[in-house]
Amino acid sequence: GSREENETCATREVEAKFVIVGGGIAGVTCAETLADECPEEKIILITASPLVKVVTNYQQVSRTMETFDVEEKPSSTVESQCPNVRVIHAFVSGLQAEEKMLTTSDGKRVHYDKLCICSGGKPKLIPGQNPLVVGIRDTESVKSFQKKLSAAKRIVVVGNGGIATELVYEVEGCEVVWAIKDRSISSAFVDEGAAQFFLPHLNQKKKEEASALVKRLKYTVENEGGSALSPTEGEGDGSFGSALGPDWATSRHMKGASSVCPQVHVDYQVEVVRVMDRDQMSATHLKTHTPTHFAGDSEQEWPVYVELSNGCVYGCDLVVSATGVIPFTDPFLPGNTFEVAEDGGIKVNHKLETSLPDVYATGDVCTAAWERSKLWLQMRLWTQARQMGSYAARSMVAATRGESISLDICFELFAHVTKFFGYKVVLLGLFNAQGLGNDYELLLRVTEGEEYVKVVLHEGRLVGAILIGETDLEETFENLALNQTDLTAFKDNLLEPGIDIEDFFD
Ligand code: FAD
Repeated sequence: GSREENETCATREVEAKFVIVGGGIAGVTCAETLADECPEEKIILITASPLVKVVTNYQQVSRTMETFDVEEKPSSTVESQCPNVRVIHAFVSGLQAEEKMLTTSDGKRVHYDKLCICSGGKPKLIPGQNPLVVGIRDTESVKSFQKKLSAAKRIVVVGNGGIATELVYEVEGCEVVWAIKDRSISSAFVDEGAAQFFLPHLNQKKKEEASALVKRLKYTVENEGGSALSPTEGEGDGSFGSALGPDWATSRHMKGASSVCPQVHVDYQVEVVRVMDRDQMSATHLKTHTPTHFAGDSEQEWPVYVELSNGCVYGCDLVVSATGVIPFTDPFLPGNTFEVAEDGGIKVNHKLETSLPDVYATGDVCTAAWERSKLWLQMRLWTQARQMGSYAARSMVAATRGESISLDICFELFAHVTKFFGYKVVLLGLFNAQGLGNDYELLLRVTEGEEYVKVVLHEGRLVGAILIGETDLEETFENLALNQTDLTAFKDNLLEPGIDIEDFFD
């Protein structure tokens, strides 16, 4: 055929030693680490999102704690920093693992030697197709939320994880009904005691400048040219962009249409029964509920209504569904025999290998199915996406070289540094006594409005901690946990203010 035909053919069939799917933190870190370890090998990164997430200002704070900034950048940045990486902007629609080949929605066939799936998660949405229900997942969904919020006087936020917590704290100029299924707020991260500590800040928001320890999400491109590709192009709901990360809310303007001080009303232990538009609502003859400190009355009309399992019906302008993500595995499962975990993630072993040869998975899409350290748990977080992405790359390289690899120390102890309600929050190990039944002891030190320190002891050893505020205890506690020091003799003094714990062991 003509030269043109050949070129079309050539671009339809691509191959590389290492192929990575996903331009989130997991995929990009994996590609960068591979490029670093094997500068001579060809690496392809395929991503549906127009921008990729890049880790910058990475700092190892201690043995297991790390901080970094995250920047969204055009994919060309990765190519210019890693000359052997080629980024392809396409949606992977299928995997033929037996032929070691991926297909994309624009008709490419990508052949690999080793593949790493880093396709992240998609938001769980509350059922129903109401356009006034928004899920928050990526930059595009935040933009659409901000736009709708600017005209809103009241919103209902459903969900109790990190996203909901930040959102409720950051939204201004709008009444917020926060519907949670648990007995206390922010329960994915903190216990009831810490939730009590935070409660006064719900209606009395104090915004402080983020401390240096808090990672920041920077938006370097204001008007990105493209948009995330989805299998149903045009209907894009944004679910295929990369997930947002730390501080996605603080750096953004989250303002509603009302001039009232932000008011938050929490409904505990509830679930959404249904979401109704005005017509559906009037057909039910139900009455709406208006929290006492909210404006308006039960006669007021709203564009959308939410019925909760406690019988309350709230009218609002917008419903935010922040009920977590489910691993996005759709394009990869058909025709392949992956082992999939109960939470929907692709199971990986301690080398981040899936059950299929030469296929790895990492980040939000995978489920850690190895014999885990007692003090580590998987949570679908930014830091873990970075750590797993880097470790997956090293594991892929070790496999091609016939070398063995031992599990990275970051998988020894769970560690997460974040910020809630303006406070620094450090979570270590089994911070909520996960999996310990009743077989643990708690030590507490609380100064209202200032700090909340909780230590979880098991058999006299520190197995977990929640540190809220500027406690300066994280590194000491990390050491006590990693070394499993016997604290039986010191536990009564462990949290005494002013005591230097290191002195006990001199
Ligand atoms: P993602 O970032 O989801 O990236 C997946 C990538 O794969 C995307 O680029 C996508 O386009 C691409 N992709 C998917 N399918 C295909 C396909 N078929 N073909 C081609 N490309 C594909 N974590 C924290 O630690 N702290 C926080 O404060 C925090 N806040 C958050 C706030 C929000 C609103 C959200 C949604 C998440 C938050 N997280 C936070 C979680 C964190 O963002 C994720 O755990 C992390 O980003 C996961 O990274 P990932 O690379 O695995 O997946």
